[in-house]
Amino acid sequence: MLRSGADVAIVGAGLIGLATALELAQRGAQVRVFDRAEPARAASWAGAGMLAPYTERIEDRALLALCARSLDAYPAFVERVVHASGFDVELSLDGIVNAAFDDAKMLALREHAAELAAAGISADLLDRNATLAAQPALGRNVVGALVVRGEGYVDNRRLGRALAAACETSGVTIVRDAREVALECDARRALGVRSERGFTPASTVIVAAGAWSGSLPGLPEDCAPPVVPIKGQMLSLAIPRGFVRRTTWVPGAYLVPREDGRLLIGATAERVGFDERVTASGVRRLLDAALAAAPSLGDFSITETWAGLRPGSPDERPILGATPRAGLVLATGHYRNGILLTPVTATLLADFVATGDAAPLAAFSLARFGKDARVAARMNEV
Ligand SMILES: Cc1cc2nc3c(=O)[nH]c(=O)nc-3n(C[C@H](O)[C@H](O)[C@H](O)COP(=O)(O)OP(=O)(O)OC[C@H]3O[C@@H](n4cnc5c(N)ncnc54)[C@H](O)[C@@H]3O)c2cc1C
Repeated sequence: MLRSGADVAIVGAGLIGLATALELAQRGAQVRVFDRAEPARAASWAGAGMLAPYTERIEDRALLALCARSLDAYPAFVERVVHASGFDVELSLDGIVNAAFDDAKMLALREHAAELAAAGISADLLDRNATLAAQPALGRNVVGALVVRGEGYVDNRRLGRALAAACETSGVTIVRDAREVALECDARRALGVRSERGFTPASTVIVAAGAWSGSLPGLPEDCAPPVVPIKGQMLSLAIPRGFVRRTTWVPGAYLVPREDGRLLIGATAERVGFDERVTASGVRRLLDAALAAAPSLGDFSITETWAGLRPGSPDERPILGATPRAGLVLATGHYRNGILLTPVTATLLADFVATGDAAPLAAFSLARFGKDARVAARMNEV
């Protein structure tokens, strides 16, 4: 439990800021979240919502362990959000199909299957016929697939709406459309958050501003996380229900179905600064990849195109916990797994605020970049 009346200000109402706010509020803190826009409308809205630590084949053991812990926590997390908000959230954990279209990829999937088996993770290698039975939308030239059980997706847009409502019913104040949001710190510690509506003192200030976390007004230079925007473009098609049954990876793209009949196709990864435009070449790349793997998709209407900015960090691990200023805490840099990492981030951050024990976050600390995180930031921009 937190000491009663602990006051926390969070900058950024994406999934990371909102989930952390909810966790802290449910442990007894007074929490206020500031966002310059509507909650959960940035990367947390743009993402595909895949929960896929094993299909991603993350090689960094610390990151994989964090992602796996968060995947395990997802069902209970969603249940809590649904309970607190009264909103339904679509969570599907019926496996992810990683499809191979040549022998080299099939060989890589076999190796991956062996690694997963050694680690005790349930996965099935499918031959061509079994792959087509599992995912009939795929083209006839598919060779086989690896299906990791227990992975899947959450509808991140619905989760964002539900989390914002859950926060508010749990006593969190969300300050939407806030202007001129700035952190205030003295030489030793965080003091609070200022916006055009005045100054909010807080004993803990959490930076959860996604790709913008490194450049928040008032953030001391030695506390700035080396986060850069990595743009992702996506589009969606309207398909008949069940036409694509499960989240499916194909060369150059992934296909993620939603219960409402949308099929999400993603995503590019581009280092182009804070550019959120959808481009002809980005959409073409995605459509080329998707239609090469599943030609029958070519008949369906495009319903939406969009782009968002992932908060990228130099080593692709999130940046969590302490900074050189007491009470100034980071929850950012989640790059391509921020939706997956939402539950575990909220728990770890709330534990840190409650205990001040930085040890569980050591592998994800700002301090891992050494004395000058700004050097890491510049290297990350290259
Ligand atoms: C195309 C795409 C596909 C993705 N797919 C997946 C996926 O399948 N699975 C997965 O796990 N992850 C995925 N991600 C990554 C995931 O979306 C992000 O890692 C995650 O949403 C980051 O959440 P966040 O809360 O840190 O940031 P955001 O959601 O970006 O929220 C940051 C918030 O900070 C606010 N803010 C910024 N600056 C200020 C300021 N100065 N003052 C006040 N407020 C401010 C913004 O308005 C915003 O609301 C994807 C991302 C993209 C773009």
